[in-house]
Amino acid sequence: MTTLPEPDGELAEIFRRLIRNTGPISLVQFMGESNARYYATRDPLGGAGDFVTAPEISQMFGELIGLWLADMWINSGREEPVSYVELGPGRGTLAKDALRAMKRYGLEPAVHFVETSRTLREVQLAAVPQAQWHDDVSTLPWDDPLLVVANEFFDALPVRQLVRTEEGWRERMIALDGDDFVFVAGKQPMDAAMPAGAGDLPPGSIVETCPAAAAVAYELFHRLAEQGGCALVFDYGAQRPDAGSTLQAVRAHRKVDPFETPGSADLTAHVDFGTLANIAESRGLRNLGTVGQGDWLRALGVEARAQALAKAAPHYAEDIDAAMHRLIDADQMGRLFKAMGVAHAAWPGGAGFAQPS
Ligand code: SAH
Repeated sequence: MTTLPEPDGELAEIFRRLIRNTGPISLVQFMGESNARYYATRDPLGGAGDFVTAPEISQMFGELIGLWLADMWINSGREEPVSYVELGPGRGTLAKDALRAMKRYGLEPAVHFVETSRTLREVQLAAVPQAQWHDDVSTLPWDDPLLVVANEFFDALPVRQLVRTEEGWRERMIALDGDDFVFVAGKQPMDAAMPAGAGDLPPGSIVETCPAAAAVAYELFHRLAEQGGCALVFDYGAQRPDAGSTLQAVRAHRKVDPFETPGSADLTAHVDFGTLANIAESRGLRNLGTVGQGDWLRALGVEARAQALAKAAPHYAEDIDAAMHRLIDADQMGRLFKAMGVAHAAWPGGAGFAQPS
């Protein structure tokens, strides 16, 4: 994906010029270019930024992930060397917390970050100085088992939307009405590109797919099948997504119009966990399951961990309790956020995936 060098506000103008010169552009291009610009030009995480993620809410999130990975590694025979891989590590907070927890169990993996933003790489370097960086998963080490984590990574990858018109399925494209971006149906018939079963939906229906997420999962899960290892994916999404657009833009903790300021708001879409699980199974991996983030954290002992932290730091007891509830409560991040686990067929089943989502 190209990252364009111009400052904020310029990207909208670039898109307008492109559309005027060559016609409507795809949502994949709009979202891909917008997010590349967005992440390249800022650290969006935290109270002063645009959104807050689980590892920035509490150290318990990364610690329990580290514990889970250490448990998997120990039960699979403590193979070494082994690599910790994180996709889109943000500020490096999750990795730092997870690595500290893993070390207590004798697990000190090499650290590999897949991160395209040069700005965030600087922040990650300060948190995890020993890390090595990659633009994509293709350059990850080939020999080691991989312990993979992705939190709010897949939701940032560009989605393609198809819309049912009276004439059949078309790609949803972005055109101009004056200076405003508007959705239009593309000219090319897309009926042959539809997932099975989607043909019956009424006119106006939208089906969303994420080719970029599928491509990353395909390559990564192939590596896990070849090299050993396991992966934990956390994101907002569903096991079997309903039809409809889930595209949203967030800026300064508020939902905004995705067309308003491309490159200055975080564009996301829900993650299709069912498709990721199918890809894992097609590569020969074991699908451990997809459960609510709250159920997963509770099964891993988040309540006991919160109590221990509160006992060690009584002044912060209320903050620790509030952070835990933010992560696990059904009306906060506990239910809409999902945890998905996959592992090499010869690796053990992981803790926390027994409950239904
Ligand atoms: N995991 C972190 C950050 C989530 S934000 C946390 O939980 O706090 C999304 C992260 O993915 C950022 O680090 C962003 O720079 C990175 N990212 C987005 N698109 C990417 C891409 N195509 N390739 C690699 N990294 C990407």
